Amino acid sequence: MSSLRSPVCKLCRREGVKLFLKGEKCFVKCVFEKRPYPPGPSGKARTRKKITDYGLRLREKQRLRRMMGINEAQMRRYYDEAQRLPGRTGENLLNLLELRLDNVVRKIGLAASPRFARQLVGHGHVMVNGKRVTIPSYAVQPGDQIQIDKTMKSNFFVDLAQQNHERRATVMPSWIKWDKAESKGEILRLPEKGEVSFPVNDQYIVEFYTRR
Ligand code: SF4
Repeated sequence: MSSLRSPVCKLCRREGVKLFLKGEKCFVKCVFEKRPYPPGPSGKARTRKKITDYGLRLREKQRLRRMMGINEAQMRRYYDEAQRLPGRTGENLLNLLELRLDNVVRKIGLAASPRFARQLVGHGHVMVNGKRVTIPSYAVQPGDQIQIDKTMKSNFFVDLAQQNHERRATVMPSWIKWDKAESKGEILRLPEKGEVSFPVNDQYIVEFYTRR
C-alpha cells in the first residue's frame, strides 16, 4: 500500500491529529503527544503559519485517506461512487469507507491497527458468508455473515486486540452483531448518520474535490 510505506507516526504529526495507526502503542507511547508539530526541520515553524482555505480542505481529505490507508486513486474512486449514489455525497463517502471489510474487522476489535486489519483480510483469515475474502476493500452488506478463520482464534495479536478492545470498553457499532465466543457475527444494517466513526468534516472533502 503505497500510502503507508512512510513511518506512520509522521502521518499523524503531518495531519495534526492522532490517526491511531499503530494499535496499542497509540494509547501508551504516542509520538504525536511528544512532538505535536509537523515532521521536518521547519515543522514547529509551520504550525504557526495560517492555513489557507485550500490547505484546510486538503488536510481534511488527507486525514481521512491516511486513516484508511488508501491511496489517492482509490480515494477518488470512492468519491466518484459517493457522487453517483443518492443523498449527500460526503455522507455517502464516509459510509462507503466504513463498510470496507478491513474497517469492519477493526471495528469488531480483531485488529488493533488498520495495517493489521488489512493483513488479516489480505491473508485470507476472514470469511464472508462462508467464503474466504482476501480483498480489504470488499464492501459488506446488511445480512453478511462475518467469521474469522478458526486458526486465528488463538492468534496472539488477535487475542491481544480483543482484550484491549474490551478493556477500553470500546463500543461495538450497533449495526454489527459480534459473538466473541464463536468468533462470528453479522452486519445487521447500514450505519446511520452519526454512526460513522471518522472524525472529519466531510463537507470540506466534498469541497476539495469540487474545487475549480
Ligand atoms: Fe499516530 Fe499512533 Fe504514532 Fe501516536 S503512536 S503518532 S497515534 S500512529
